[in-house]
Amino acid sequence: MSISRILIANRGEIALRIHRAAHEMGIETVAVHSTADAEAMHVRLADHAVCIGPPPAGDSYLNIANIISAAELAQADAIHPGYGFLSENARFAEIVEAHDIVWIGPKPEHIRTMGDKVAAKKTAGELGLPLVPGSAGAVDSIDEARRVAAEIGYPVLVKAASGGGGRGMKVVPDEDQLESLMSQAKTEAKNAFGDDTVYIEKYLGNPRHIEFQVFGDGRGNAIHLGERDCSLQRRHQKVLEEAPSPVLSEEDRMRMGGICADAMANMGYRGAGTIEFLWENGEFYFIEMNTRLQVEHPVTEAITGIDLVREQIRIADGKNLSCAQDDITFTGHAIECRINAEDPFTFAPSPGKVSHYHAAGGMHVRVDSGLYAGYSIPPYYDSMIAKLIVYGRTRERCIMRLKRALEEMVIEGVKTSIPLHQQLLEQEDVLSGDYSIKWLEDWLREREV
Ligand code: ADP
Repeated sequence: MSISRILIANRGEIALRIHRAAHEMGIETVAVHSTADAEAMHVRLADHAVCIGPPPAGDSYLNIANIISAAELAQADAIHPGYGFLSENARFAEIVEAHDIVWIGPKPEHIRTMGDKVAAKKTAGELGLPLVPGSAGAVDSIDEARRVAAEIGYPVLVKAASGGGGRGMKVVPDEDQLESLMSQAKTEAKNAFGDDTVYIEKYLGNPRHIEFQVFGDGRGNAIHLGERDCSLQRRHQKVLEEAPSPVLSEEDRMRMGGICADAMANMGYRGAGTIEFLWENGEFYFIEMNTRLQVEHPVTEAITGIDLVREQIRIADGKNLSCAQDDITFTGHAIECRINAEDPFTFAPSPGKVSHYHAAGGMHVRVDSGLYAGYSIPPYYDSMIAKLIVYGRTRERCIMRLKRALEEMVIEGVKTSIPLHQQLLEQEDVLSGDYSIKWLEDWLREREV
């Protein structure tokens, strides 16, 4: 079997990213689009394009029947889901495979397990990944919650098993507030996810977010490509990511990466995945696994020289991993800035027409974006419109180059988060790498007063 035409079930920069890898492998691409995206760059670049519905994502980019019909119509022999949308929908993966179309992603049962946080945590523990202390599984009664919380010590975090995007999560400072906050978390989870299952974890006060990139061939072989530090976050959304993490030693990297790769090998994991940890006082605590490509994957590409999408396609095509762990080296430093169409400090969305556009360039500067002058950013989708990824031999040189590249970027007609990134790169703590997942929100709050 050999893939010759990939349908890309996504839009924006990630659709372009996948198209580029495919074309470099001599593979044709099929774009799908909503009526709002008929003029989008991912549609213009692809070899074929199929309209799959009206603007709301539920009617187009999440419409499984329409996407499968598009694949059959365009005679695609594989589907790449990108990130977001249907990328972590196990049922979609099963339907794709049932239609004899190659699913460029993990085995559906692994997507399902990792998508349920209680099951994911249990699996991670069995695979030897270090966990945040907490309940062994779902917590059904307030008595059980009291017992678990007393054992691990306050503050604790009540989390929704079906959670995502930080919803259904409550920090409980002491026992007096446990009952009411747990019932609030359950109600929120029920409303958001139709499932009020919750579990309890120790609340870590000031951790960093450090995640490991892994790849498996589905036959018991797996590698890791080091870590990314994504601690600069607002409302659990990553803003700027870097690799390597400013705080990990080479020894920590190889030890933790090795544990992650072994876990994936034991599981028989197939394709790309990211294992996310909180990191505090030198200890790692598993929080979740994403069974897909991540937005921030280019920083890993920059320091390893490995094309992650190419690797995904190869594995889906039944090939072996293109390199062994010993062949992988980490050189230099890379940082990614997510550029959103929004007010840089109030974060109010700013869709609309881009009147002028000029992408930064020069050595080691990469811009992944579907923007062009005259493009209208539709209001229906995610506000991220570009990613600026910069590499340098050292973190200092990377930061100097990133500042230079941000100065060069021109996006006019809409507000963007470029000024936020420019200010961040003036902050002492950011320059020294001394920040936790709380840092950005604290800084924004101080800026306001
Ligand atoms: P979601 O799927 O809703 O994004 P995660 O489990 O990935 O949920 O957690 C989202 C964010 O919440 C983390 O990146 C971190 O900032 C915070 N968080 C999660 N678990 C803990 C914990 N035990 N202690 C402190 N913060 C946590």
